[in-house]
Amino acid sequence: MLTNAPKGTKDMLPAEAYKWHYMEEKFAEICRRYGFEEVRTPTFEHTELFQRGVGDTTDIVKKEMYTFKDMGNRSITLRPEGTSPVVRAFCEHKVYADPQPTKVYYNIPCFRYEKPQSGRLREFHQFGVETFGTSNMMADAEVIAIGYDFINEVGITDVELQINSVGCPECRGKHREALKKFLEPKYDELCPTCQERFHTNPMRILDCKSPIDQELVKDAPMMLDYLCDDCREAFEELKKNLDSFGIKYVVNPKIVRGLDYYTKTAFEFITTKIGAQGTVCGGGRYDGLIEEVGGPSTPGVGWGMGKERILMTSEACGFEIPKPSGTEVFIACMGDEAQQFALKLMHDLRLAGVAVQMDVAGRNFKNQFKYANRCGAARTVIIGESELESGKLQVKDMESGEQTEVAIDDIIKELTK
Ligand code: ATP
Ligand code: MG
Repeated sequence: MLTNAPKGTKDMLPAEAYKWHYMEEKFAEICRRYGFEEVRTPTFEHTELFQRGVGDTTDIVKKEMYTFKDMGNRSITLRPEGTSPVVRAFCEHKVYADPQPTKVYYNIPCFRYEKPQSGRLREFHQFGVETFGTSNMMADAEVIAIGYDFINEVGITDVELQINSVGCPECRGKHREALKKFLEPKYDELCPTCQERFHTNPMRILDCKSPIDQELVKDAPMMLDYLCDDCREAFEELKKNLDSFGIKYVVNPKIVRGLDYYTKTAFEFITTKIGAQGTVCGGGRYDGLIEEVGGPSTPGVGWGMGKERILMTSEACGFEIPKPSGTEVFIACMGDEAQQFALKLMHDLRLAGVAVQMDVAGRNFKNQFKYANRCGAARTVIIGESELESGKLQVKDMESGEQTEVAIDDIIKELTK
């Protein structure tokens, strides 16, 4: 028990951590090109923020949140997603008073009490971007483009961008009526979750993953046929902007973000490379959200991307993440005096920017060499009493095995080469 991590969490050992580093740096770099800046918000928030910002009727709020009372009897929730906290910070710090738009990105752990499986964890990690303060469809195309570029640059070749419009509260009302009328006779056949959605949020039934429900909604009325003029024009505008960016997409009328404050654009990046949890990125426009959580009426658009799923897909596509360079120099030494000399040399080299290690276990030379190999050292310096007396050190190239003699006074110069 003590040596098992909680279900749905994952350790990240060095053999994997460098891959995440690569992803994180790549993502930050692409965001920089697009003029997005990083925000960091707390890992936990007041529960009410998510009840409002994600929505009371969603799976996340109804059954997936890690919620607890703290010692001060406040209801606290570990962040299940990134948008609401960023919206909260935008309001709290009155960022809306600055010239808009505001363009931010984040890189965060998220927590959801779900049934763990491949690509679905209880602690998982997300990249996200948000643009606040503009309803222009150029912003929607731009956030999609960041995701598109990133996915391409981490070597993902198998992915499809699917887009849709979920309209606005006005045109959605008519669709909702039509959809309910269509689904009413099939109500008993819907899965239990969708029976509930029928009352709270019927549009979400359209993107239910159950094959039975998918079959039931095959000929259901689609939101795209109910868009008002404004929403229809916006959708055309979005497609035009994506075309100008050279971004390929397909229209999938069943992509849904179901809540009232989601408006117009909805999209997902989907891959077939990693099994059932194939949505690597999902997002859309949420023109009603900021007002919903108590801020001034401000439009917004953004997405969240699962880092675990992105890495799995990237690897499944055969992308090789370059390994960072490890230890460059190992110092093998024997005897007290040599050890003190080695400590000083090691520190000087480190100050000069060299990655260097030495034996700290009092091993014989043979085992020190073994350890130097484990560290992946490119070169090993050998320091014993006789070397110190003669003033000449041996430097061994670990790959070729070639050994060269270097005068003590030149050793730093030689090893920083
Ligand atoms: P799903 O339908 O797979 O449950 P979702 O609609 O709940 O996804 P979002 O809330 O849109 O997902 O989160 C954005 C992205 O975060 C998803 O597209 C996915 O890549 C990732 N994600 C969501 N939940 C998990 C999880 N439990 N484990 C790992 N990644 C996740
Ligand atoms: Mg989910």
